[in-house]
Amino acid sequence: MERTVYLDNNATTPVHPEVKKAIAEAIDLYGNPSSMHRPGQMAHYAIEEAREKIASFIGAKPEEILFTGSGSEANNTVLNSIYCNIYACNIQDAGKKENCQNHIITSAIEHPSVIHTLKCYERRGIDVTYLPVDKFGSIDPENVNKAIKPSTGLISIMYANNEIGTIQPIKEIAEIARKNKIYFHTDAVQAAGKIPINITELNIDFLTMSGHKVYAPKGIGILYVKKGIKFCPLIYGGHHERNRRAGTENTIGIVAVGKAFELLAKNMESDNKKMLALKLKLKQGFWERIPDISINGHPDKSLPNTLNITFDYIEGESILLSADFDGIAVSTGSACSTGSLEPSHVIMALKDNPESAHGSIRFSLGRENTEEDIDYVLEKFPPIIEKLRKMSPLYISNYGGK
Ligand SMILES: *Cc1c(COP(=O)(O)O)cnc(C)c1O
Repeated sequence: MERTVYLDNNATTPVHPEVKKAIAEAIDLYGNPSSMHRPGQMAHYAIEEAREKIASFIGAKPEEILFTGSGSEANNTVLNSIYCNIYACNIQDAGKKENCQNHIITSAIEHPSVIHTLKCYERRGIDVTYLPVDKFGSIDPENVNKAIKPSTGLISIMYANNEIGTIQPIKEIAEIARKNKIYFHTDAVQAAGKIPINITELNIDFLTMSGHKVYAPKGIGILYVKKGIKFCPLIYGGHHERNRRAGTENTIGIVAVGKAFELLAKNMESDNKKMLALKLKLKQGFWERIPDISINGHPDKSLPNTLNITFDYIEGESILLSADFDGIAVSTGSACSTGSLEPSHVIMALKDNPESAHGSIRFSLGRENTEEDIDYVLEKFPPIIEKLRKMSPLYISNYGGK
């Protein structure tokens, strides 16, 4: 294999070399952070230092930051907290169930950790509205307004989409939630580190982030919970994380993600500028070299690193495998759809056309990508697409095999 060009940074990122160093040091922080002795306290201080770095990155207070086992767990924690409060309300107010706000508004293009959790809660009696998106994957704040009922207790809309990169009008939606006194959650796993997030400028009650999407290791999630919120834990046990998430802290993961956010604060602006230039070069190059393609996602309200393209007449899976043979790592649909032939729910929500969902490929750039990487992809892709189209019955029936 000539080289590896990793363009799947929305699935996960490689660990930053500085984060690696921080991990190597944190391995020796063996004490239990709950212990009063010195080894315990050393681990405790390292954790609190990381918490402060992350809080300052989004303009929050350290006590509003909660560490979880993943971004998925953070999303589940929010939805469970709402569900748990509804359940308690139903028992306490058994005669007046209408007082319990059991309606949740979300979108059709959320991450599976939101959608599948809500599907489960629907079976337990929660009322869920899945808002549609337009052809760019944007949510119209007016549709959020229209979906609100007296029983709405939560609005959960992702900040930016992992598959197509579309950035949602979070400020407007958060404002609608505030005006209606409804809790607002945003899954900012993909937005974090790619666009500035400042919760002092937005009315956000819950916000999710994840370490492995920002050059820290897998298995560490972050949940911002606004001070004063009625919170119900997902995991019970000891008094960790101010009684909001039990389990002995993942000291190494927490120190690592703290370091990752410290680095983002320093480097994200220049890194993102570089990634955006490379993404535009890739997009332009594809337009010039390959016919019958379309871009999925918003033309400019989009993450600087994410480009999603439908190559008509062929399957995303075959493109992915051919690209991998040339050392290019991309994805089709979401990582979770990979391995099944289910079309991506995100592309389906855009076009409602399973064929175009099948042929969609996500290129997600990272801080390490170079100009040469993009040149290499632009050299390798046209023959891959041409070869696959020549074998495609769909293509042959359209072009008579020419
Ligand atoms: C990756 C991702 C998650 C899940 O984070 P994990 O730490 O992998 O569980 C949630 N939401 C979005 C938008 C993501 O891209």
